[in-house]
Amino acid sequence: MIFDIHTHVPQYRDAVPEDRRRINRTWRPDAARPGNFSWAEYRESQACVDKSVVFGIAWEPGERVGGSNGAGDHGDVADRVNDFTATFVQAYPDELIGFMAVHPYDLGAMDEMERSRVELGLRGVKLGANYQAYDPLDRRALAVYQYAERHGLPVLFHTGTSAVKSAPIPAAHPLTVDEIASRYPDLKIIMAHMGHPWTVDAVVVVRKHSNVYTDISGLFYRPYTHYDALIKATEWNVLDKILFGSDYPIATPAETIAGLRSVNDIVEGTRMPRVPLEKIEEIIHRDSLALLGLD
Ligand SMILES: [Zn+2]
Repeated sequence: MIFDIHTHVPQYRDAVPEDRRRINRTWRPDAARPGNFSWAEYRESQACVDKSVVFGIAWEPGERVGGSNGAGDHGDVADRVNDFTATFVQAYPDELIGFMAVHPYDLGAMDEMERSRVELGLRGVKLGANYQAYDPLDRRALAVYQYAERHGLPVLFHTGTSAVKSAPIPAAHPLTVDEIASRYPDLKIIMAHMGHPWTVDAVVVVRKHSNVYTDISGLFYRPYTHYDALIKATEWNVLDKILFGSDYPIATPAETIAGLRSVNDIVEGTRMPRVPLEKIEEIIHRDSLALLGLD
């Protein structure tokens, strides 16, 4: 089985109208990617995995829909971010697990978490303190973590940098997760992207906390960073806590698997250390849903 723990929800149930199509050229150094996409495009990309975790982003208080391009990137589904995710998940329940998105500074955040969990059936939380421009240790953010811990909802934090202009980079530094994990020892946390480019900081947080995992999404297309991150994870003995994820639409799961399997290519012909390839296969086939209590 292959589980993709990190994908973004499509903005369009039907085909993206040509005049609304956006192409993003800043996410990746090697490829332009579709900024908005349809249910069919998403499902075609995910055909090689068994189940995917999918979520939107609550860019600002009020839960208006915003796609991976930013706030107000509306499609043709619903206009509230968690309904948007739930509509898609309910159409393909065997393929998808939905996570909710809330803004900690939203006065209705707690009610929205309850509604998303109980009425919409969403089973985890996606947060990005940089995209959402909140202080990750603000008391309103702590209330979100506390609710998630109490109800067994894993939290996937964006960690690492971003090219989004409005996103303050320090808010998503992986070391911010150390304090959160200490305060909420029963909260399952996934640090996205191994905190890139601060991958060793992510590795030491993962090593310290039994409740913290990291995902490998968004790394392979910077081959040296990818190799270096996985070597650090090897040396600090945390390869068993790396979860497979693609960050679709920024990359596909097929590309991510190919990138993982060729991680050692850049050191061919040298005496540099190798990432054990049997460990790479374990990452690809890891039962992340069981680890996160979502099976
Ligand atoms: Zn992402």
